[in-house]
Amino acid sequence: MNSINNWFNNFVRNFESDRTYFKRLFFEYCKNGDLKNAKKYYDKIVLTFFTLLSTHLNFAYLLPELNDETFIIACSNNKVNIASWIYRKRITDKYLLKGFEIALLQENFSVFNWFLHDHSILIKLIRISISINDIFIFNFIIDYCFDNNIWIVLVKAFNICCYTKKLEMANSIYQRLSNYPEINTIIADIIMKFRLSRDTNSNIYKWLHSLGDENFILQNLYNPEKYDEIIQKLNIPSKKNTNSDVIITEKCSICLEKYNFISSCNHYYCLKCFLTYNIKYKNNNCSYCRQIFDLQKCCFIKN
Ligand SMILES: [Zn+2]
Ligand SMILES: [Zn+2]
Repeated sequence: MNSINNWFNNFVRNFESDRTYFKRLFFEYCKNGDLKNAKKYYDKIVLTFFTLLSTHLNFAYLLPELNDETFIIACSNNKVNIASWIYRKRITDKYLLKGFEIALLQENFSVFNWFLHDHSILIKLIRISISINDIFIFNFIIDYCFDNNIWIVLVKAFNICCYTKKLEMANSIYQRLSNYPEINTIIADIIMKFRLSRDTNSNIYKWLHSLGDENFILQNLYNPEKYDEIIQKLNIPSKKNTNSDVIITEKCSICLEKYNFISSCNHYYCLKCFLTYNIKYKNNNCSYCRQIFDLQKCCFIKN
């Protein structure tokens, strides 16, 4: 038993020393931007890693750390080839932001420009800065996007701020988007989503509502192109219209026009009346029989 233990300990020790050696070379190649050799030694480290992992589960934490550490080295040494390569292998959010900060503060322009020219990275950085309240990075990216007309990132950032209920951050983006032609549609869309989730008590909702034009918001709720999305969000079952489904003598109990919605209590509505009644005016019981709606037992009849 003892000799097996000794053998095992030696085995681990050998791999650890190989690993340390490979790592030292690897970092040196990264600092110099030698991607070919960096890749070669990365693979060697990964190999020792998995060998150790198969014998010794405690090593499981080492690999993400290697990527994070490599990313920081690449950003500090302005090696964009190494940074973009290791980024594609996945690094933790905290280190993406840290690498960006380093590139910014050290004016490492190759890496810095790489960050700024990829919209998906900008959105990631914004998302991270919002989640940890890093106002400095947040403002920096928002200003950059505004100065360079990168509306797609600003709109995405505005959505993230609204859904995570960061009112101040949302407002600072709104100031820059107030002349953006689509802004009313964007606000109406966010308001609709809050309404459909019955989440209308937050300050962010009240603020959005004060910005939005009620008619415009309702247009959105009544837009047949949005019906599928609304129905899905409310978790209402639907079925395709076949002639046998529609009873000609029944009408919407509110507007007396053709119905396309049957409540859980088996009463008839058109979807527009139902949404006005249930979402806009927040009535949860049937206008006809006063029973509480069970949305999962209602049915929308698609045309
Ligand atoms: Zn109706
Ligand atoms: Zn009813």
